[in-house]
Amino acid sequence: MIRHDGRNPQTLRPLSIETNVYKYPEGSAVVSFGDTVVVCGATVQDEVPAQLKGKGQGIVSGEYRMLPRATHTRQCQSSGEGEASGYRWSIQQLITRSLSKVVDLKKLGERHIIVDCDVLQADGSAVAASITGAFVALRLAVDKLLAQNILLQDPIKEHLAAIRVGILAGGACVVDLDDEESNASEAGLNLVMTESGRFVEIQASGEETTFSGEDLNEMILYGKSAIESVIAFQKEALLEVDHAPSPEKTVVIATGNLGKAKEFAAMFAKGGYEIQTLKDFPELAEVAETGKTFEENARLKAETIAQILKRPVLADDSGLVVDALAGLPGIFSARFAGPQKSDAANNAKLLYELTDVPDEKRTARFHCTLVFAAPGKESLVVEADWPGHIGRIPRGEHGFGYDPLFVPLGSDKTSAELLPAEKNHLSHRGQALAKLQAQWQQWLEDAPKA
Ligand code: IMP
Repeated sequence: MIRHDGRNPQTLRPLSIETNVYKYPEGSAVVSFGDTVVVCGATVQDEVPAQLKGKGQGIVSGEYRMLPRATHTRQCQSSGEGEASGYRWSIQQLITRSLSKVVDLKKLGERHIIVDCDVLQADGSAVAASITGAFVALRLAVDKLLAQNILLQDPIKEHLAAIRVGILAGGACVVDLDDEESNASEAGLNLVMTESGRFVEIQASGEETTFSGEDLNEMILYGKSAIESVIAFQKEALLEVDHAPSPEKTVVIATGNLGKAKEFAAMFAKGGYEIQTLKDFPELAEVAETGKTFEENARLKAETIAQILKRPVLADDSGLVVDALAGLPGIFSARFAGPQKSDAANNAKLLYELTDVPDEKRTARFHCTLVFAAPGKESLVVEADWPGHIGRIPRGEHGFGYDPLFVPLGSDKTSAELLPAEKNHLSHRGQALAKLQAQWQQWLEDAPKA
């Protein structure tokens, strides 16, 4: 049997997948099944809907829209009717269910990935093309989060794609139907399947007439092998993605500490920038912190490395300032008790130095200075303090450094007794980060000084 466009029953139309076509969503793809063209964009939000808050897991959801001029007669129903269209709603549910099955939502953390599928041109099999493209966009978005160390484990379990199969008048089973074939088909099936050959969804319906169990079996067999080729094609398209971050959209964080880098990564990702850390540049010699103030030390790190790498570099310097010790340990906080930089030894020394200091004189503050440097620019400097006092007995399991001895003003807990999210919200580093957040992009994207 030869089809009206010359294809064999099991032959797909020309398939194409173009990756990362949009600037803003974390992942995007344009997928064509013949003349059916769908553009999919996966956007990552750091918030989950209220009912999922605190559950430690994420959510993936699909949106679907057919542009008014996607078909030969201008249609408003899908876009114009908006939320109310039942057909559109059921496709969104299908996309959502399909994507959610191949994602370990716990590994996604409390994030919401929304995958928008816009059908630009509809010539049959638009739903199958949407699901196939939605997976590619999701894969790209997750790859980006992994590259930025925002995610440390891959939440995607396996590949996923979809195909439309149908029975034409006369009984022939065919895959990837175009509009003309769809309109004339007796039965149709949207089949969604994973790479390991497991079905996620089989939506079959008789169109003009009923269909038999044999018809269904045949459609599933044809669909299965068609999806295998679509998945092979998806994988090839994803292999061609250029994974190296572009230097114009990269910020280097002058730290080897991945925990600190992660806090900054999320902020830069919102502006479309990826981060690298000193671990990506093992050839760089360590910059000696010879400054006399936090700012001098942070400047030394940021400006020296920005000069060498010719890229924007963010450095931080922080420490504990104790009034009764005339500001010590200050810039020497990490090595207060010696070059071995031991938290336990530093805390012991701090307690010893304050032995005879009465409670009301044990005031102190954590300080953080952030310096953002770029070639040819005056550095951006922000700083913040977190006031409190030094206790007498170490308490708490969280945090690091002097946290078990530092009692923030207005609290009866030490900063090591606060949950990490509570501490990040209040702390010197959290506050400095908030100030940087408000300014960095404008600063970075303004023209360099002459
Ligand atoms: P640096 O900014 O990574 O050089 O940190 C200097 C030192 O200051 C650390 O090693 C800690 O001893 C201390 N420090 C800075 N921030 C904190 C904090 O949030 N909690 C406890 N100690 C801190």
